[in-house]
Amino acid sequence: MRLVSLAVLALLAAAPPAHAAVNVMATTEDLADLTREVGGDRVKVETIARGYQDPHFVEAKPSFILKLAKADLLVVVGRELEIGWLPPLIQQSRNAKVQVGAEGYLDASLTARILEIPTGQITRAMGDVHPLGNPHYWLDPDNGRRIAKAIADKLSRMAPADASYFASRYADFDKRLAEAEKRWDAMMAPYKGLKVVTYHRSWPNFVDRFGLDVIGYVEPRPGIPPSPGHTIDLIAEMKRQNVKILLVEPYFDLKTPNSIGRETGAKVLVMPPSVGGDKAITDYITLFDHDLALLVAAIKETGAK
Ligand SMILES: [Zn+2]
Repeated sequence: MRLVSLAVLALLAAAPPAHAAVNVMATTEDLADLTREVGGDRVKVETIARGYQDPHFVEAKPSFILKLAKADLLVVVGRELEIGWLPPLIQQSRNAKVQVGAEGYLDASLTARILEIPTGQITRAMGDVHPLGNPHYWLDPDNGRRIAKAIADKLSRMAPADASYFASRYADFDKRLAEAEKRWDAMMAPYKGLKVVTYHRSWPNFVDRFGLDVIGYVEPRPGIPPSPGHTIDLIAEMKRQNVKILLVEPYFDLKTPNSIGRETGAKVLVMPPSVGGDKAITDYITLFDHDLALLVAAIKETGAK
């Protein structure tokens, strides 16, 4: 009798889980982490762009096509962030589930708060890589919350038996994020209105959330490399407004930022905008912990106002 029960137990242990995991492909590490937050052990997540890469320009490796071919769900940043590399991967995957508009295609920007939506006619021919509004919107924690909710809702529709699991994972993430936001707001409270310059327009949601003021960019337009004339104007403006902090995403050349730093006395601060942008940035909440600590240290060091 006892032997039989053990045999049954052994069989149960070897049985596959009641619900197979949803195979998710996320275009960035930020989306991948938010998917893991709400999906837990009911998802298997793969990522395309690494956090230390410029998400506008990613090499479309063939290995991604094979992974995408097996995906049940593709989560994208949208707003044309991935337009330079994702469409051929989707097409070549020949996976009907993840084609644009299919049930397994989730554009995370649709429920996020998007800034800098152009009012006039903007085309990519002008070199602007943000033609549909700013695609770096995950850098406001409230958008992280909205993205996590959209992913939880989508997973619940795809795997209804696990809906309560996803809902409770989302509720837990929401709670931890809200606690972290209190900590971040307290850190940044003394620095409202602090003037900074950034290399790329990666930070409008971030500065809006934390009360900073971006007075200029090293790039003349998003995606256009710095030009001597623009750099000279920027240096003059930084001197006039006494700007002491220049934020640079880790994937840009430091030659121009360093020369601007020398001319103006501003500190060049390399600050990753994504999970995985530094070894220490292992998840979405750590991203803000890491960046805000860097920023506050630089503010104290430079005496920036
Ligand atoms: Zn951009």
